[in-house]
Amino acid sequence: MAEAEQARPIYLDYQATTPVDPRVAEAMWPFFTQAFGNPHSVHHSYGTEAEAAVERARGEVAALIGAEAREIIFTSGATESNNTAVKGAARFHGPMGKRHVVTVATEHKCVLESAKALGRDGFEVEILPVAPDGRVDLDRLAAAIREDTAVVSVMAANNEIGVLQPISEIGKLCRAKRVLFHTDAAQAAGKVPVDVNDMNIDLLSLSGHKLYGPKGIGALYVRRRPRARISALMDGGGQERTLRSGTVPAPLAVGLGAACRIARAEMAEEEAYLTTLRQRLWDGLQAHLPDAYVNGSWAARLPGNLNVTVPGLDAETLIAETPEVAYSTASACSSTSVEPSYVLSALGLSDQDAAASIRLGLGRMTTEAEIDQAVETIGCTAARLRAEGAGRLAGAGAG
Ligand SMILES: *Cc1c(COP(=O)(O)O)cnc(C)c1O
Repeated sequence: MAEAEQARPIYLDYQATTPVDPRVAEAMWPFFTQAFGNPHSVHHSYGTEAEAAVERARGEVAALIGAEAREIIFTSGATESNNTAVKGAARFHGPMGKRHVVTVATEHKCVLESAKALGRDGFEVEILPVAPDGRVDLDRLAAAIREDTAVVSVMAANNEIGVLQPISEIGKLCRAKRVLFHTDAAQAAGKVPVDVNDMNIDLLSLSGHKLYGPKGIGALYVRRRPRARISALMDGGGQERTLRSGTVPAPLAVGLGAACRIARAEMAEEEAYLTTLRQRLWDGLQAHLPDAYVNGSWAARLPGNLNVTVPGLDAETLIAETPEVAYSTASACSSTSVEPSYVLSALGLSDQDAAASIRLGLGRMTTEAEIDQAVETIGCTAARLRAEGAGRLAGAGAG
């Protein structure tokens, strides 16, 4: 009894993953149990009911981003969508002499590593820097695009610092130069308005578990007019317009569809709610830590993201000392060492400041009471740790 009542940590890591919305879980359930058919088995009702549900979901995903249902390819997540878009575009257009790829230093690893893989295959990869506010310079981007550019890939919203890139402007630029434009919208889709036509997006990746849907499913939008041509990564039965062979996981697709439908209906309200909540969080933290600063543009930012540097603090220690809150540092732990975040480094932060940074992610289920509690816990502990650290340093200096 006591154990069951023990509070779980306050969840402030919504950029890592989101809980599945109970409405989404409910929509998925029948497709695990009664309606378990293979959506590609169209000769009996098990298959056709699964197929109908998958097609309904495809329409819901499309509606969220202003696309047509037949432009949506189901994948296993944004990692696969990004790989398919970046490598697929390069591999289709490479043999036609387009062997140049443009992306940005703060992209998710799966885009950067896809670009690197293309580099090993003989493509020329250009990785653009960002300004201190995390945004890409449009003139620089324009200058980087060439006759032989196969694809430009720029994320819509960053997973560490929440910064929104000027996607409309980039889309306009790419369309004028007739270059394929891919955007990783794993963080943006369902959080801020995205419209593939208004923004001239040719390829767009999104992920179920970043917008209150299940893990293990995502989508790739592939424009039909003018047609975005890409090669598939996998060979097989030719499902998903031959771009993604393999049985579509109907329960997960239904979940993604439901998540997109809910996000579309509630996005504006949620955006306003989270913006207010984030302001409360930031005001509270500043009261404890007056010299803390926010990384990345404040204005062009996901409503649920706050990335903060507390100069002089060791973020790893802070997190270890505040188990009542679930959040993360901005550093990436490799098997051998803790390395400073390459995203914060790209913004110009020193290794020391990067190691003093935390990411707080708010979302649909976050409450005002949780924010107040998190402020108290993180604010007091950070202030104490810094005072102790300064004391130790002073002691060391004296000795
Ligand atoms: C989470 C994330 C991904 C990877 O998505 P998965 O569905 O987990 O593979 C890619 N890009 C961004 C920006 C993300 O936040």
